[in-house]
Amino acid sequence: MSEILKINNWINNREVPADRYLDVIDPGNNDVVVAQVAQGTEETIQQAAEAAQASQPAWAALPLSQRKAYIDKLAAITQESMADLVELEVREAGHERRTAEVDFGIAMGSLQYYNSVIDDFMKSEVIEDETSWTRIDKVPKGVCAGIVPWNMPICLTMSKLPLALLTGNTMIIKPPSDAPAALTLLMQRFAKALPDGVLNVVNGSGGRLGAAITSNPIIRKVGFTGGTEGGRSVYEGCAANIKTATLELGGNDPAVILDDVDIDKVVPQLLHGIFDRSGQICFAIKRVYVPRKMIDEFFEKMCAEADKLKTGYGLDPESYYGPLMNQSQYNFVMSLIEDTKKTGSEIRELGGKSTPELWDKGYYILPHVVKAISNDIAIVQQEQFGPVIPLIPYDTEEEAIAYANGTMFGLCSSVWSSDPQRGIEVASHIQAGQTFVNGHSLFALTFGVPFGGFKDSGVGREFTGAQSLDAYVDYHAVRLLKG
Ligand code: NDP
Repeated sequence: MSEILKINNWINNREVPADRYLDVIDPGNNDVVVAQVAQGTEETIQQAAEAAQASQPAWAALPLSQRKAYIDKLAAITQESMADLVELEVREAGHERRTAEVDFGIAMGSLQYYNSVIDDFMKSEVIEDETSWTRIDKVPKGVCAGIVPWNMPICLTMSKLPLALLTGNTMIIKPPSDAPAALTLLMQRFAKALPDGVLNVVNGSGGRLGAAITSNPIIRKVGFTGGTEGGRSVYEGCAANIKTATLELGGNDPAVILDDVDIDKVVPQLLHGIFDRSGQICFAIKRVYVPRKMIDEFFEKMCAEADKLKTGYGLDPESYYGPLMNQSQYNFVMSLIEDTKKTGSEIRELGGKSTPELWDKGYYILPHVVKAISNDIAIVQQEQFGPVIPLIPYDTEEEAIAYANGTMFGLCSSVWSSDPQRGIEVASHIQAGQTFVNGHSLFALTFGVPFGGFKDSGVGREFTGAQSLDAYVDYHAVRLLKG
């Protein structure tokens, strides 16, 4: 039997063992322990904060060109690490191999993107008139922390890490308990390429370490990606201790189909946005609004397309979709399916099993398409984070817009039309951080466009320039008053 991979926390460029290790179970084959990961405590967060604080002045004093050179190195390490860490991530996180590769690809893109915009951002502004001269500098906050979820852990770390490091901060990363291994190993490789203490990694329970992070006076900024409840707790902790928080939270993204679409063309595109990663993407399409006169044809077409694809173990080449992440997510999605059946909605289970021998050992659920009886049922109103999609009929565009805006979420959304101008016009009425027209999947994202949510979907923006980098600096005005 091969030895289980044992992973320690990493502080000041040293491994930090723990009293307790958590088994990381493969969600696609529960018989397998993928790794054992050290569980840090409040004391471990304190150690990491002190190491990060000690290294921060020298890091901030480096010329920006040197910090950029380090970020280039980290991009190269990310690329090299795909050789072993993509597979590890598939095994611990239940990814399909292709979405694990996308996770690493976006991560590299983010490192490169921030290197390309940082010079402009860091420039000081000078304002002068007869009575005064003022220079406005951007100074690092000091020590920042990133708290990351399991669904795309690598790229969602890189929506925080290059911003913190390039602006002169040092950092602590708290990986997710469900899929900590690939991220922790990547962060260890990063840390070794950086000066001691600049990057530190502490694993452990989110609730416990989250409180330790938000209450620690050394840590001045927290970037959180995860569910709304965790985000609320981080926000409260940061408010109590007057520190900056950015929150990328859940979503219940609507796709609004207008009555001029070519159904055969649109449905295959929608499927990517709905079912990739088995629906476990924050901005996956989670409800589809269809003109009432088109709903039957649309439903049949979507069922036919979804029926072509197989679900199974992520490393199996035939698996197009993988398992859900954990027991509680599996139970939640199954309960939504059962609840939906009781509403009188039509629901179909579709597709095939690529690895049927593992079916009872993993959290597998086949894609389900629902012709919803009304907009008010749970599968429409809640974030399912799983492979079940409701199609809801609507009668007027105004009604579709009201439905789309009728939840407490507002992350992303989309409008689909053969007429781009009509699509843009309807999109302008939707309350969300981004509304795509004729797209809505991982492939619709690009750097430089603000990513984040309205309402309960979050606070702040990531993956863009000044609107994201601003959260990692304080403004310092040096002001000369002339005689
Ligand atoms: P969680 O909020 O449970 O976990 C996310 C991270 O936060 C984990 O590292 C977790 O640690 C930690 N955490 C949990 N509770 C707390 C707390 N009270 N204080 C501080 N940290 C905490 O989210 P999930 O793992 O369930 O991820 C799914 C959710 O994330 C979905 O709602 C999804 O939409 C959202 N999401 C949002 C994205 C966005 O960019 N807007 C992107 C991806 C996901 P631990 O694992 O140890 O519990």
